[in-house]
Amino acid sequence: MQWWLTVTESWWVRLLLGMLGSVLIAGAAYRRQSLSGSGALSAAVMGSAFVTLGGPVWFGCLIMFFVTSSAWSSWKRRHRAKQQAEASYAKGSRRDAGQVWANGGLGLALCLAHAIWPDPLWLFAFVGVMASANADTWATEIGALSRSAPRALIGWHRVEPGTSGGVTFLGSSAAFAGAGLIGLTGAVLAVVAPLAQQVSAPPFTLQLGVVLAVIGAIAGLVGAFVDSWLGAVCQVMYRCRSCGKETERAQHCDVPAEQIRGWRWMTNDVVNLLAAAVAGLLAVLLAFLWI
Ligand SMILES: [Zn+2]
Repeated sequence: MQWWLTVTESWWVRLLLGMLGSVLIAGAAYRRQSLSGSGALSAAVMGSAFVTLGGPVWFGCLIMFFVTSSAWSSWKRRHRAKQQAEASYAKGSRRDAGQVWANGGLGLALCLAHAIWPDPLWLFAFVGVMASANADTWATEIGALSRSAPRALIGWHRVEPGTSGGVTFLGSSAAFAGAGLIGLTGAVLAVVAPLAQQVSAPPFTLQLGVVLAVIGAIAGLVGAFVDSWLGAVCQVMYRCRSCGKETERAQHCDVPAEQIRGWRWMTNDVVNLLAAAVAGLLAVLLAFLWI
């Protein structure tokens, strides 16, 4: 391991390795139709930046999020239930640049902050943010296959599958599992590898790792519910002028749709970003109280 740490101490070696790895992964995702062209380019830039700025824990969480959420998307694609729900989503299952930055941009900012002012609290915020993104994606992909109809987070009445703010037991369980996996990934990598190559930070103890895993699971689950709540209350919604269906898309049936509620700027990407920010803040708050 020592030779590896010595070699990767130079930032340009990490940049080259990061670019190589990110281009391979983003390229594969593009070919498998998990990412659009702009999404693949964004993911490659983001992955390279994570490897250059942070240690294994940062890009490890990113890759775990990316690989598992893409895997669930393609797993769901093979199920029929999807087509019905997907039609009213703002975007299809190919992630574009907006979705990539909404999910990972805040995480990258936290990784950059840690590179400049090293402090384990940045990692807690980061794990909360990524856990929230993972929880939301898992809940969306897996929850869409729920056999019981989703219920509205507000009012608890039954809603159409795919409706923002609709929650199911299956989706909520998936959210918790997705958040817990990111917490666990962050904890294991933080304990076994340095938080950043360029600083000799104090070791991340096993006890701290357990706290990180638990906080990640809690913050991520809360983030997913905040996401559902914002989606139901504030997110912009349209009604198609042609077929009458409610949709997150500004266009439906090739005609501009009529806005029926929410704020025009509060798109699904903005909702994801805000929910992730809440999860990150909650993770820092819990870490403050706990350690
Ligand atoms: Zn329509």
